[in-house]
Amino acid sequence: MEIRFYNTLSNSTEVFQPVNSDCVRMYSCGPTVYDFAHIGNFRSFLFADLIRRTLEFFGYKVHHVMNITDVGHMTDDANADGGGEDKMQAAARRIKEDKKSGKVPEGAVGNPDDPYQIAQYYTDAFLSDARTLGVKVAFEYPDNILHATKNIDVMQEMIATLISNGHAYVGADGVVYYSVESFPAYGSLSGNTLDRLLTGAGGRISEENQSNKRHPADFMLWKPDKTHIMKWDSPWGAGYPGWHIECSCMARKRLGRDVIDIHTGGEDLIFPHHECEIAQTCGATGQDTFARFWMHARFLMVEGEKMSKSKGNFWTVRDVLEGRATGIKVHPAVLRLELIKSHYRANMNFTKKGLQDSAGIVRRLTDLRTRLEADSGGKAQPVDLSHPILKQFAEALADDLNVAGALGVIVPWAAESHSDAGVALGILNKVNDVLAVAPLASETATIDDGEASRIQALCTQMDDARTRKDWATADGIRKEIQAAGYDVKTSPQGTIAEKRLA
Ligand code: AMP
Ligand code: ZN
Repeated sequence: MEIRFYNTLSNSTEVFQPVNSDCVRMYSCGPTVYDFAHIGNFRSFLFADLIRRTLEFFGYKVHHVMNITDVGHMTDDANADGGGEDKMQAAARRIKEDKKSGKVPEGAVGNPDDPYQIAQYYTDAFLSDARTLGVKVAFEYPDNILHATKNIDVMQEMIATLISNGHAYVGADGVVYYSVESFPAYGSLSGNTLDRLLTGAGGRISEENQSNKRHPADFMLWKPDKTHIMKWDSPWGAGYPGWHIECSCMARKRLGRDVIDIHTGGEDLIFPHHECEIAQTCGATGQDTFARFWMHARFLMVEGEKMSKSKGNFWTVRDVLEGRATGIKVHPAVLRLELIKSHYRANMNFTKKGLQDSAGIVRRLTDLRTRLEADSGGKAQPVDLSHPILKQFAEALADDLNVAGALGVIVPWAAESHSDAGVALGILNKVNDVLAVAPLASETATIDDGEASRIQALCTQMDDARTRKDWATADGIRKEIQAAGYDVKTSPQGTIAEKRLA
């Protein structure tokens, strides 16, 4: 069966074939570990995981690599010129505040002035959340998840190569810059070609600092700075690397190829990050391609705005699972399903209603699995794509990861009666290898379903009463929730009940 993916590079859907049939080589931009990853970040990570699992479903071996950005990502990096403060530096300040408020437990980051301790704390949190949500590559740490700070040597090697072959130079301020004019294909991914940038494409090149550079869009590869929070010796002075160089280097180092099959990230990374990665890698390797498929997830939104750390409108995985986000405690499979079920090339809104719908699907698939395990004695029969249900499921996924279409096959099928429980279990297992949304009933039993669902039902009733402007009823329900030991809050997702701490 042909697999078709949308490629940002060609702005079209293309048939996917790996360079080498033995293995698909795939790289995903990972988290910047200066805070907890939010569920918007996880929409991008789960999207990458879904690509991987889909390819494995179709029989490919997949080598998936991700990075951890623990240095050099500046607060103004959305601008081609970078600038601002290192995000780790900003974190050091914030963590002291968060310790006071209890958001970061005392003792969690032993010394908040030590960026390595900050990075490790949030790396561990990321890995734990990613494993909870079934992101496979998180189980391959540290082999396939690489820290920027542990790969400074390969970055310096690539920078030296770029200088020696004319793609980079030391500016008047001693900073090493990539010369965008040396790379005619600059702009081919994002459409931000140099002529368009010069005519002011969205303020993405700043006026500052231009006297030091050959072209306003030239971007930083190495910055000598003896005062920086993390620094390393280099031929260009003690300092730190630019944000973009790490991904070019770690992808090549760990995947062992100059040309890889797939590169993923959220849509905000198309420019400048991925555009610059292409310029660096191709400049260093002499190839005209870095990744053959560039795939990007659209944003998870809250009330029409991108969920983001800087806007403060975010929920972490823990917030959602523990019920702080919506008042409903949910199994991780529910959040996973919620974040993958809308098409990755459409923005999605995070809502309580969406989460409830996902909970309903997970419950049905879990019940089915429990029944089939019992009826078949746990013996799944081998099934392949010749089975009509799996074939339809596969066709939907092969159509640029149409998860909604795949669910449209599986959910009605799950409601049917299954005369051969072993075959049905075989199908469900294969489906679950990709979606990972049908946990065993025994796994979901750890959730306090009784109380959580009672309180959740009360929150929904309170929302309904408020919609009807029946304030007396809403007030009565509020008192009932409070009497059960919860604080009642309103949020964009509706009423939320938070367990009061003893
Ligand atoms: P960061 O930790 O900020 O470097 O981001 C990690 C990943 O999350 C990147 O691929 C971003 O593009 C992605 N991302 C950030 N915000 C969102 C969002 N609201 N929805 C989807 N992906 C996002
Ligand atoms: Zn990256």
